[in-house]
Amino acid sequence: MTQTEYKIYIDDIIRRVESARLKVSAHHIVKIVAISKYSTSQEIEVLYKIGQRAFGENKVQDLKAKTQELEEFPLEWHFVGNLQKNKINNLLDIDPTLFQALDSLELAHELQKKLVAKEMSLDCLLQINSAKEESKHGVMPEVAKEIYEQISQECPNINLKGVMSIGAHSEDKTLVRKSFELTHSIYKELKGATICSMGMSGDFELAIECGSNMVRLGSLMFNK
Ligand SMILES: *Cc1c(COP(=O)(O)O)cnc(C)c1O
Repeated sequence: MTQTEYKIYIDDIIRRVESARLKVSAHHIVKIVAISKYSTSQEIEVLYKIGQRAFGENKVQDLKAKTQELEEFPLEWHFVGNLQKNKINNLLDIDPTLFQALDSLELAHELQKKLVAKEMSLDCLLQINSAKEESKHGVMPEVAKEIYEQISQECPNINLKGVMSIGAHSEDKTLVRKSFELTHSIYKELKGATICSMGMSGDFELAIECGSNMVRLGSLMFNK
């Protein structure tokens, strides 16, 4: 694709986000985070030139490499992957805009310790395993509110901004919808939460209709 063709392609994705969000309300604003894990820094630069500013990675070493390679550009970086305890300091050295995959109280406590040591704070989302899939990380929906409140109280250097969830891995749209609705209902109960991150390339319109205000688009944004 030429740059012009790519711009038209991205405009079409933005139009799809627009029509999904307008079904919710004219005031329902949705942010697109371009997940660049399958893409190169050059491809990110092309998307930046079209106007995209928020990008996300799921491996700390990839996040580090790309933030370094693209350091001249005013980009926002999200970390959306599973964080191993021995990688916490590496993540904090990168100081991402938002860590979207805080998935246990135990990890929150470890993170809190490292944040104190570095005199930092970090914006995070609590990941919810709303479809209760063994292959996925995240806290169970029944305990999500309690864990969210516990982290808020016990980890003052973690700024919880809301929740993140991956939709049910299913061809059955009613199941996917249920997982999004459950995540959104938990989000609505959380005091001060402003971000409900759900929806990926294959299900973002449904996620937005269920109340998502942040979609994480990988293959679609990079046309893979
Ligand atoms: C890879 C990834 C995405 C993007 O997936 P696509 O289906 O390529 O849009 C979104 N969220 C997380 C947590 C991911 O790991």
